[in-house]
Amino acid sequence: MLPPTKLLIGGQWTDSASGKTFDTINPATEEVTATLAEAGPEDVEKAVAAARKAFDEGPWPKMAASERGKVLRRIADGIRKNLQVFADLETADTGKTLFDSGKVEVPLSADIFDYYGGWADKFYGETIPVRGNALAFTLREPVGVVGMITPWNFPLLLETWKVAPALAMGNTCILKPAMLTPLTALKLGEIALEAGLPEGVLNVIPGPGGKVGDALVRHAGVDKIAFTGSTEVGKGVLRACADTIKRVTVELGGKSPNIIFADADAESAIRGALTGIFYNKGEVCAAGSRIFVEKAIYDQVSDGIAKKAAQMTVGDPRDKGTRMGPVISKAQMDSVLGYIEAGKKDGAKILAGGAKVEGANGKGFFVQPTVFGNATNAMRIAREEIFGPVATIIPFENFEDVVKQANDSFYGLAAGIWTKDVKKAIRAAKAVKAGTVWVNTYNLYDPGLPFGGFKQSGFGRELGVHALESYTETKSVWMDLS
Ligand code: NAD
Repeated sequence: MLPPTKLLIGGQWTDSASGKTFDTINPATEEVTATLAEAGPEDVEKAVAAARKAFDEGPWPKMAASERGKVLRRIADGIRKNLQVFADLETADTGKTLFDSGKVEVPLSADIFDYYGGWADKFYGETIPVRGNALAFTLREPVGVVGMITPWNFPLLLETWKVAPALAMGNTCILKPAMLTPLTALKLGEIALEAGLPEGVLNVIPGPGGKVGDALVRHAGVDKIAFTGSTEVGKGVLRACADTIKRVTVELGGKSPNIIFADADAESAIRGALTGIFYNKGEVCAAGSRIFVEKAIYDQVSDGIAKKAAQMTVGDPRDKGTRMGPVISKAQMDSVLGYIEAGKKDGAKILAGGAKVEGANGKGFFVQPTVFGNATNAMRIAREEIFGPVATIIPFENFEDVVKQANDSFYGLAAGIWTKDVKKAIRAAKAVKAGTVWVNTYNLYDPGLPFGGFKQSGFGRELGVHALESYTETKSVWMDLS
């Protein structure tokens, strides 16, 4: 089941220059899943040299775009053929349920490659009617070598959001996955080679962010950085990119409002609120972690959410009956439990959960799905990204009040709106400052629909045609006709 345990550089599986290795830990059992080569700064040098060579001298950027598209579709097929392996690896690394990895995220990852395989020969320049006797047109050219830095919550999926559009446009890639969850990135590297991706076009170098990620960000041989992670680290990445005026896109954190109006279908809204916060144990950048409920139905909805949260089965992510696996690590568990204490101290009321759960043999990093009621938007549990299974329910008075509160956040990644009134839904969708708004639903994704943040949730858009813009340079060509 394990992927290659070495670094993928220039089409070869290699040990790290330092010989260092690290272990990946299964958060459900605390057992070591694999021991892997750990990249360091010297390996970054090698990966950049390989990716540069593949871009500057190799066949990939020059290849017919339709041929690149075929390679992407073969990668999609390879992911589907290995679906169970990918799902097992993802669940072992992250603790997400096998249902989520095998039925939702790995299939969607394959779809992303198909989608961008289709775009490879369909995103191109324009002929523009300029003044004077000249012909002018634009070319869409690949940016070059792209450094990709990804988090641990949706490892494979978020990697495909970067790798697939970058490859479609003829770029070469250096992927640095999060150290907690590198297995599916290595498997993707293996599948890509089997699909005929030329050597050096996709390099995979798991290693520590402060060394390997930082070296990539600062390297003059890297043309663009595509970063997904926390807002704090993202700010540092932006600063470092300034030195070489690197192209950069950042997908960062969130504290998304999920707004339930009194005229909503309460049962659907309760289900949507639960999916919004507890999918993937709340380790979701777009999690609907601030649930605003209009006062007239506050008791009904908060009771409903609390009751259903208390019934959720927390446990072995490989069991069919499990709704929620462990959080990613001990550090994350301690941080989530710390936020639960902060919520209590600030005067919010625990309606469900609030504690650690013992796993089998006392192992694993399990936290109960936790629901806070009677909270305010000023509390820490409403302002800071907890990135765990903690819902904060806040009552509101009316439309104006909730829009004001919803937008009172540094973040602006996503929002949910629940109402049967179409006009109200549209007014609210326009009023909230968020990159994605779900109406009477939550957490839907499609390869064609752009995703990204307002405010400190980042900038640039992934998915859809919009992602292709950030993996291309526009060149204007003038031809004298006089
Ligand atoms: P993180 O910022 O700690 O790490 C993200 C990646 O950056 C990792 O690969 C890490 O090794 C690397 N890194 C760390 N320090 C670095 C540095 N100095 N220079 C370069 N790279 C460095 O985030 P995380 O804990 O892995 O992930 C959780 C965060 O990601 C949350 O804030 C979440 O909201 C965010 N996230 C955002 C989106 C989105 O699309 N907006 C999606 C998923 C996760």
